Amino acid sequence: MSNKYKMFIDGEWVDSSTNERLETVNPYNQEVWATIPQASNKDIDDSISAARTAFETIWKKISGAERANMMVKLADLLDQEAERMSILETTDNGKLIRETKNQMHFSAKGYRFFAGLTDKIYGEVIPLENQDLFDYTRREPLGVAVLITSWNSPISLLTNKLAPALAAGNTVVIKPSEHASVTTLELGKLVEKAGFPPGVVNIITGDGRVGDYLTKHPNINKISFTGGTETGKRISRNASENLVPVTLELGGKSPNIIFEDAEIDRAVTGAVAGIFAASGQTCIAGSRLLVHRPIYNQVLTKLVEKAKTIKLGNPLDPTTEMGPAANEAQYSRILSMIEAGKESGADLVLGGNEVNGEGLEKGYFVPPTIFANVENSMSIAQEEIFGPVLSVIPFKDEDEVLQLANESKFGLASGVWTTDMRKVHRLSREIQAGTVWINTYRTAAPSAPFGGVKMSGYGRERCIQAIHDYTRIKNVMINYAEDDRDPFSMQTK
Ligand code: NAP
Repeated sequence: MSNKYKMFIDGEWVDSSTNERLETVNPYNQEVWATIPQASNKDIDDSISAARTAFETIWKKISGAERANMMVKLADLLDQEAERMSILETTDNGKLIRETKNQMHFSAKGYRFFAGLTDKIYGEVIPLENQDLFDYTRREPLGVAVLITSWNSPISLLTNKLAPALAAGNTVVIKPSEHASVTTLELGKLVEKAGFPPGVVNIITGDGRVGDYLTKHPNINKISFTGGTETGKRISRNASENLVPVTLELGGKSPNIIFEDAEIDRAVTGAVAGIFAASGQTCIAGSRLLVHRPIYNQVLTKLVEKAKTIKLGNPLDPTTEMGPAANEAQYSRILSMIEAGKESGADLVLGGNEVNGEGLEKGYFVPPTIFANVENSMSIAQEEIFGPVLSVIPFKDEDEVLQLANESKFGLASGVWTTDMRKVHRLSREIQAGTVWINTYRTAAPSAPFGGVKMSGYGRERCIQAIHDYTRIKNVMINYAEDDRDPFSMQTK
């Protein structure tokens, strides 16, 4: 029997006003294990007006310290419930339990990090030429923030938005992906327990139509979106109707670069972490492996050997290393990109075919797949696949690798494996990406800025600066001069 989830609007758990529901499928066995409401336009309007009322009447009036208390309680609850929440998330999107559990604790850290900033949202005193004027700034919350997330890491991605939004004093309407909404709804229960007033956090569910209506809404003040680049562009167009500021965390095709002077075994582990962790369904996937020609064959051989040993299976089993694709649409997309790779003339050196094996019969499994001798212009090197498919590309020298790395419409992350400090600094400066990892990959901290350039989006999450994306500056100028002024000329002194 499937679990029937409700939405969280104005502190109440409600069905859709049309009673429409969507099925949510476990990608490991294709069973419908839960249903979620498809929000109607009326439900969306209700959630926004609840957020607006909560903002005006309660949330913007309470102190930062009070907001912090609730956020810390939420973090504690998330830590306590990490086991249960991770089982639900793994059931929903097929991501390994060892990663989803880790992400729950990481999210708890994120709430604590931003809770620590709630009483440090300072304005400034601005020195002016005119000594009879006193000028200062206030950083004020924006109002109602709409937070939209993708299915690959619902709670972790949401934390990057919800924590700074609440810390800065905004109220929110959240819409998770229809493919993985359950843990976000469960988080609503923790929000309730943590004591947040009704309407501060609202969670509505449904398909892309809900997101479309939400982001066109005239009564919102901020949108933060994580998802695909095409959806991001559409949201940006929607937001322009009401001039609503947007943060966009979009796709990637990140280069992971191994130089001849690197510690090869660690670099190969880094390449595996870059593409086969989360079955490649991660925005920061190091999906283009650029390898220095003198070590190209050595790296490829070691990588294939290592990838062959990856254990596919039930993502709820803590020993599993790769789970299924998260949903049928994603599975079909990965397979069609593998076909495109085969047709392009790249050498398929591992995977690419159907997966057989005990326990894998019903899941959307794609094997670890490696294409060698890929040209950077091929679609498998240019388009985001969002699956366990690696393009390995040889390079001759530093100039060529920089050109290859930057010849991409995306610019989310990158990795460099080298023991030469001069290369470290030159490449960190020249690579067009929001993150450069040196001798590591897929490493994160709540305080380290995260975000992209080019078609990977704009805005930064997880860092102190992220809180500024949820505030606006107001300038206050106070005149205490004794004499009067000329009313027909702007006073510039
Ligand atoms: P998606 O199809 O763009 O969907 C993302 C979210 O947008 C979902 O909640 C989706 O709802 C909603 N949505 C769909 N159409 C919409 C519309 N017209 N208006 C407003 N919202 C709409 O992306 P996805 O397949 O879920 O996620 C994969 C993508 O996310 C990849 O490109 C990946 O790189 C990117 N991603 C980026 C980051 C980052 O931090 N940069 C992190 C993770 C993932 P439904 O799912 O219900 O349709």
